[in-house]
Amino acid sequence: MPGTDADYYSTDASRCKTEDHSSVCRQCDWKELIIDVFSKICYHAYCIHNTINSQFTVQHKENNGKYMEEKMRDISVKALAKINLGLDVVRRREDGYHEVRMVMQTIHLSDQLEIRKTGTGRIALTTNLPFLPTNENNLVCKAAKLLMEEFRIKDGLFVRLHKRIPVAAGMAGGSTDAAAVLYALNRLFDLGLSLQELMERGVKIGADVPYCLMRGTALAEGIGEKLTALPPMVKCPVLIAKPQISVSTKFVYEHLRLDEKTPHPDIDGLLAAIRDKNLSAIAGSMGNVLETVTIPNYPVIAQIRDHMLEHGAVNAMMSGSGPTVFGLFDGEQTAREACGAMRRSGLAKQVCLTGIYNNVR
Ligand code: ATP
Repeated sequence: MPGTDADYYSTDASRCKTEDHSSVCRQCDWKELIIDVFSKICYHAYCIHNTINSQFTVQHKENNGKYMEEKMRDISVKALAKINLGLDVVRRREDGYHEVRMVMQTIHLSDQLEIRKTGTGRIALTTNLPFLPTNENNLVCKAAKLLMEEFRIKDGLFVRLHKRIPVAAGMAGGSTDAAAVLYALNRLFDLGLSLQELMERGVKIGADVPYCLMRGTALAEGIGEKLTALPPMVKCPVLIAKPQISVSTKFVYEHLRLDEKTPHPDIDGLLAAIRDKNLSAIAGSMGNVLETVTIPNYPVIAQIRDHMLEHGAVNAMMSGSGPTVFGLFDGEQTAREACGAMRRSGLAKQVCLTGIYNNVR
């Protein structure tokens, strides 16, 4: 499983000692309430004070071995977002797909999923975002259905999804939720699938899902499905800002012109800089070819990028097909000030300061 799963896929199974974990268990209800409130306080403290490495982690009951033999009835997992440190489109294939070379990087910004067995035979989903689908169009349900059908699981599920990752923003929000569900159900139903086996199932849901299971720093090639793990990226503050616009991925790829004038990012230089752990060289090699489409069409993306650069980012650019822009910083204080300035500027609807996540810390 991912190297630090105990830290970031926080589980809270077997919380209740009674065999039937029903809603009448007062002890659990109280604990849940406390955990919920504590989680919210931690998250807000995290955003407000911009503490880069602080992560809320639910207590791991399985770590102390006390309730290990009891069946898991619920699990709470974090689904981490990604940014692209580099994104190049090498060519358009005859089948219409684009061949890419992307440097993927996991960050600490996350969604939270609480998953509970219900015995109803159905999958029920609630989320804090009213505009998100809660049926099979949500990748959470798709991922759950995929494993439940394959393994003929007759149990039911209740999933509470708390979204913090901006939606349709180039941060793999839906894919990472799907990855978290695959991971969680493997644990919850004791399916015994390896990371590789989960990744093979994940690609059926979306091209980014295998990477979201793998996490860390990686090179994605082909149509994004060929993954090579890279040495861990230098830790640094990451400022995220999403403007109040929607950018269609389809529109971006359809309007991408690949000719001799297209400015391609130096992906090989970026790989070397990551290996050298040299933040300024990484900053110098960052680039996203899709900005050639989005920036002329959505100037606010360039405004946000320039704002970050003016406020001390070592570099800033759009993630994926946008519209989220991220900036890397070499100091926490500068990053905090840039975050405050971005919020005051009104350029972005969602602003958050986070950090680089590595599998090996
Ligand atoms: P990528 O970076 O992989 O292109 P993205 O960050 O641009 O992804 P998502 O946040 O995954 O985009 O959302 C894309 C669409 O998927 C949204 O319009 C949304 O309705 C749908 N969707 C389905 N499930 C989810 C989910 N769990 N979270 C967010 N969006 C979801």
